[in-house]
Amino acid sequence: MSDVKYEKPTINKIEFAMASKYGSPLKTQNIRTEIDGVSVNELTEKYGSPIFVFSQRQIEEKYNTLYSAFSSRYPDVTFGWSYKTNYLNEICKVFHNLGSIAEVVSEFEYQKARALGIEGKDIIFNGPYKPYEDLKIAVQEGAKIHVDNLFELNDLEKIADELGMKIPVAIRINMDTGTYPQWSRFGFNYESGDAYEAIKRMYDGGKMYLNGIHSHIGTFMLDANAYKVATTKIMQLKAQVENDFNAEIEYIDLGGGFASKSNLKGVYQSADVIVPTADDYAQAITDAIYVNNKSEKLPKLYLETGRAMIDEAGYLLTSVHGYKRFPDGKKGYILDAGVNLLYTSTWYNFNIELDKHYEGENEPSMLNGPLCMNIDVIEEHLMLPALDRGSVLTISPVGAYNYTQSMQFIRYKPAVVLIDTEGKARLIKEVDDLATVNYKEV
Ligand SMILES: *Cc1c(COP(=O)(O)O)cnc(C)c1O
Repeated sequence: MSDVKYEKPTINKIEFAMASKYGSPLKTQNIRTEIDGVSVNELTEKYGSPIFVFSQRQIEEKYNTLYSAFSSRYPDVTFGWSYKTNYLNEICKVFHNLGSIAEVVSEFEYQKARALGIEGKDIIFNGPYKPYEDLKIAVQEGAKIHVDNLFELNDLEKIADELGMKIPVAIRINMDTGTYPQWSRFGFNYESGDAYEAIKRMYDGGKMYLNGIHSHIGTFMLDANAYKVATTKIMQLKAQVENDFNAEIEYIDLGGGFASKSNLKGVYQSADVIVPTADDYAQAITDAIYVNNKSEKLPKLYLETGRAMIDEAGYLLTSVHGYKRFPDGKKGYILDAGVNLLYTSTWYNFNIELDKHYEGENEPSMLNGPLCMNIDVIEEHLMLPALDRGSVLTISPVGAYNYTQSMQFIRYKPAVVLIDTEGKARLIKEVDDLATVNYKEV
């Protein structure tokens, strides 16, 4: 009898998938063969992989839904396209053609809007950091300046002297809207009286006057009532300032922050259940204006919705490069797109769809990107059939922030395609190359 060799005991975690109402997790495959009638395989063959794809039809649908929710309730409403959400030129143009003005938060975004032919008066200049020279240009060009802090107020007084003019400005305020964490970093606080004090400072100085009040209370706001609270406080401040300084404030601006239908990590209910509708948001804001209006004229209303307008219109197509079997038995796919292109993967669970039906049962799989970094994980655990090299996955919704925040890190930033309302795809940004990466290096 041979000796039995001692082996250290081990425990292997058995991954099993629970049955769900969607059917057997061993069989279910989420498949997407096309976007607006254009085959995903044709898109990657023609334009390369990975590639961002935007649907103009879906952008326009979102815009029209949101815009009519407001315009059917309120006589004077204008949207400002939030450049930082997605400032690809052709995307901005889609919004400008629909009637949006520009909302920018840096000198570079301001310059981008001007280069697209947007006049100063149709640019809202937000943000905590506005360099002096750029602020001065914006004032000269008649932009809507939303003052964020006292240093900026000082700068504006100096600019007023330099230009020999009285400057119309708006003020950004922050407040308690009943949702936490409260965004109190930007603008002047309402409850503490800082906002009123800053306005008083403006009038005491005699170099500017208030023509707008602005707030942007957060992003992915799941509580429409927070906008009712914000609007109420803005309208109260407006009435007080109009009374105390014999002023007439032309507009109020409720910023952005409406949620898109992305699924937040750690939230069990799907976006379809928890995300308020366009009508919910519009009703909350317009109601509060009507109830609190003390002036003869209703103010002009601006909104700066970013995410909700474009998130679901954006897709990332990525291809399987290979796979490995990890020690725990899980299959690990190597994709050509990773967290370098999916900044928002930290917060949201994406829809991941296959380009066709694959034979065989699903097994526990992990999706990894191309970066040589352990953090480059798109999805830790997903039931997938056996995919081949070259299989194309569609990841969505990724239209908001992922392109603008994607990193020039390890791999080139990819090309971008826009599918127009007739279902024609066209390249709106080429893939980067060494010249773009080395640009301005010595
Ligand atoms: C980012 C930003 C927006 C857009 O926010 P969303 O959450 O994408 O709607 C609007 N206004 C300001 C001031 C912003 O900073």
